[in-house]
Amino acid sequence: MDNHEITMEKIVSLCKRRGFVFQSSEIYGGQAGAWDYGPLGIELKKNIQNAWWKEMTQLHDNIVGLDAAIFMHPRTWEASGHVANFSDPLVDCKDCKMRFRADDESQISKENVEKRICPKCGGELTPPRSFNLMFKTHIGPAEDTASILYLRPETAQGIYVNYKNIIQSNRMKIPFGIAQVGKAFRNEIVTKNFIFRTCEFEQMEMQFFVKPGDDDKFFEYWRGQRWEFYKKYGIRENKLRWYHHEKLAH
Ligand SMILES: [Zn+2]
Repeated sequence: MDNHEITMEKIVSLCKRRGFVFQSSEIYGGQAGAWDYGPLGIELKKNIQNAWWKEMTQLHDNIVGLDAAIFMHPRTWEASGHVANFSDPLVDCKDCKMRFRADDESQISKENVEKRICPKCGGELTPPRSFNLMFKTHIGPAEDTASILYLRPETAQGIYVNYKNIIQSNRMKIPFGIAQVGKAFRNEIVTKNFIFRTCEFEQMEMQFFVKPGDDDKFFEYWRGQRWEFYKKYGIRENKLRWYHHEKLAH
């Protein structure tokens, strides 16, 4: 192997040696899908968050901030469609018990899913079934259906449920935005993606509310604003590209 080749293993090892990112609970064998930010990692992460927060809430008069709780009333997630639809198709190996996301070719090929053959051990796979990505827990002393609570799978719903509060308390008028930085949780089938796919992660989100008919205009405005933000902080334009969402998350 060429010594100058950049591999994920080299990046992970460098991040650890320099104190940027450590595997969670490494002395007990490590927790999959969770990473700890070390002394330099947290400084870098805070710098990025602060730059984004300043750009949103201080450089735009019509955007305000919010820090909503991770726990929300479970009806929030019924209304948003997450309880019914926020799921991935999974297949399990009946022999080695490995689990794969049937729609992710980095984990398992279409052919393996169709023929129901485990790519690890050659054993028989279950047919795909949908698996909800929300972490479920209970609040209070009784573990019954009335006490079910979810760890939020996105921060956006905390913004939507406070829309009226913010309009009333801060006299916001459309068009305006609400920005938030916070943790979100998804029960992802984690493979070797380092910090690029984790079960616990931080989101920086701004929801911008406009009158019907103004959406295209503001969408283009924000596309331009975001592009300039990344350029301002030193990301080369040839490293940036637009991603077109064929399918929204839910
Ligand atoms: Zn197997």
